Amino acid sequence: MDVYCFDFDGVICDSAPETALAAWNACAALWPADGAPLPEALQQRFCRLRPVLHTGYEAVALMRLIKDGEVDDEAVLSDFAALRDAFIEREGLTPHRLKQLFGDARDKLIEQDRSAWLCWNRFYPGIGDVLSEALRNHEVFIVTTKQERFVALLLEHNRIKLSMERVFGLEQNKTKPEILSELMERPESARAALHFIEDRMGTLRQVAATPELEPVRLYLVDWGYNTAAQREEARASDRITVVSMEDLLGMQGI
Ligand SMILES: [Mg+2]
Repeated sequence: MDVYCFDFDGVICDSAPETALAAWNACAALWPADGAPLPEALQQRFCRLRPVLHTGYEAVALMRLIKDGEVDDEAVLSDFAALRDAFIEREGLTPHRLKQLFGDARDKLIEQDRSAWLCWNRFYPGIGDVLSEALRNHEVFIVTTKQERFVALLLEHNRIKLSMERVFGLEQNKTKPEILSELMERPESARAALHFIEDRMGTLRQVAATPELEPVRLYLVDWGYNTAAQREEARASDRITVVSMEDLLGMQGI
């Protein structure tokens, strides 16, 4: 029996269209003149740029930056962290305030139309089988920067039975390497291999640079919010394995 740690957004759930909408509504709360419906072209552009986001609140900065045509895609892809920080400072905001606004906008979307919200957050085809198989054979955890209550709703809707004690979300206030280190200390990890499945290359780089996580097996999924260049980087790395959905199903059937 092994230990499988799955990231959520971009591995299990394609939340990008909903993230765009929640970010748009959070912008409207800050700048009420933005209250018009989210234009489809802007939503599509946001989804293309989704690989730059790490935590949900950054979506508000991304949406505001691209809405006004202030920056082009290339600038966002190459230097989003600097653009985000400059935006937060210029507008007199804080990450904490943006997290609040973003979480509130999401809560409001759920409150207005729960079934629509659930439809906007689609599980990737095949991932339900991967999770069910993993739950049958292994210890399973979710390690995510999403708020835990949203993960709970989506797992329930997709009939994945995972105790919330096994979901480590934004509320933990810990980095993924910190959470993985804690999971390695648990008794169930003692003689087990620990697998970490993620769609974001930056996170895998961080884990790979953490000495005590050296035994963790790292996988970049070939879907989700990564770019072709990042998949190439992962393929060239001797630490990270790029996996397809079929690979994941095959891996766990042991
Ligand atoms: Mg992800």
